[in-house]
Amino acid sequence: MIPVSQAEKTILSLVQPLSEVESVDLTLATGRILAKSISSQVDFPHWDNSAMDGYAVKFSDVRSSTPKHPITLEIVEEIPAGYQPQREIQSGEAARIFTGAIVPAGADTIVMQEHTQRVQKNFVKIQITPTAKSFIRQRGEYAKIGDPLLAAGAVLNPAEIAILAATGFSEIKVYCRPRVAILSTGDELVTPDQTLKPGQIVDSNQYALAAFVTQAGGIPIRMGIVPDDRAKLTAVMSEAIESADLVLSTGGVSVGDYDYVEEILAELGGDIRIRAVAIKPGKPLTVAKFKRDNNRSIVYFGLPGNPVSALVGCWRFVQPAMAKLAGLPKSNWQPTWIEAITSQDLTADGKRETYLWGKLELIDGRNQFSLSGGSHASANLINLASTNALAVIPIDNNMIAAGVVVKVLAI
Ligand code: AMP
Ligand code: MG
Repeated sequence: MIPVSQAEKTILSLVQPLSEVESVDLTLATGRILAKSISSQVDFPHWDNSAMDGYAVKFSDVRSSTPKHPITLEIVEEIPAGYQPQREIQSGEAARIFTGAIVPAGADTIVMQEHTQRVQKNFVKIQITPTAKSFIRQRGEYAKIGDPLLAAGAVLNPAEIAILAATGFSEIKVYCRPRVAILSTGDELVTPDQTLKPGQIVDSNQYALAAFVTQAGGIPIRMGIVPDDRAKLTAVMSEAIESADLVLSTGGVSVGDYDYVEEILAELGGDIRIRAVAIKPGKPLTVAKFKRDNNRSIVYFGLPGNPVSALVGCWRFVQPAMAKLAGLPKSNWQPTWIEAITSQDLTADGKRETYLWGKLELIDGRNQFSLSGGSHASANLINLASTNALAVIPIDNNMIAAGVVVKVLAI
């Protein structure tokens, strides 16, 4: 049995990032990971343009203008957004201009509409002393052609998508999503549409793990239920190892008579690197590495069958593996850790690093963790609903008292 931190290190050392890249339309790129660094294809903004509705003027004309002694200019053109100005502003002239419109040649300053007064039809009084060059967004002020915009490994969230669109990208190269095979082992398992016969239970892990993989940016390949039968299990496991980028199986990794996963991994040539981890729930975790042709290796996770153990294993160990596999930079591999004040006593037996599920909330400006009510047994998935965090009690600790800070893994 190895400590959690050592298991995490071993797992990360086994995973190789995928190198396959695909082009996707920007409209389909949300959440994807940029495969190549991107530089701006344009100056942004693309033109000197007005940041206000107002008047484009020559600063030298209005530098001595004051509210008491406003200077009057003749309006020679109206420039809405999207139009090319037709005239160069001369001394004594102004152009009516709107936000985003191109600043006309000859003008170097915008005066806000609120600081002007229109007189007759074609004249405007400047009722303040403007600041030179004010309210002009200069061409290339935010990014120049060739400036680096986004590094490889960047996750494409709404802001990154906006940057790419604004600087001329409609298609983008991203890493292919990891294909993750999911199989559930156990003679007792059936699909949710079936009526349960004595002793049967629904294979909820298949669905939970597929949802986890999707959220983690992977493509779940659902390989279904495999009975506790050596030959059948060997066939499905070897197909998964051959075809996927990562394999997750649940069940069959404890010490029961029908727990075959570890033996089969060894028979299939797997290098078994983890057999048990000092974590609760989820001790019987098996991790093996397989060499495939073209020098690639793939990692197999044999997760415990108990539904909570399986999910805790995913959140604690599979998530970092998927982050690395998917092409995220090292700084994004770790799960999100937060410090919170626990609102109840948290207890553990001290023999393993213990994960208790509950709710993390910001209350009166402080992070607070409250335990889910009911049993924290690894078979009870019911009170996992609506939890968003796991509080961690380190090994050799029996209690974290209410009011004390606890380390929490956000899920
Ligand atoms: P095992 O690790 O195979 O000994 O299974 C441990 C416990 O988890 C048993 O009570 C199983 O019935 C249950 N279990 C195993 N696989 C699944 C699954 N796919 N979905 C829900 N429960 C499962
Ligand atoms: Mg089983």
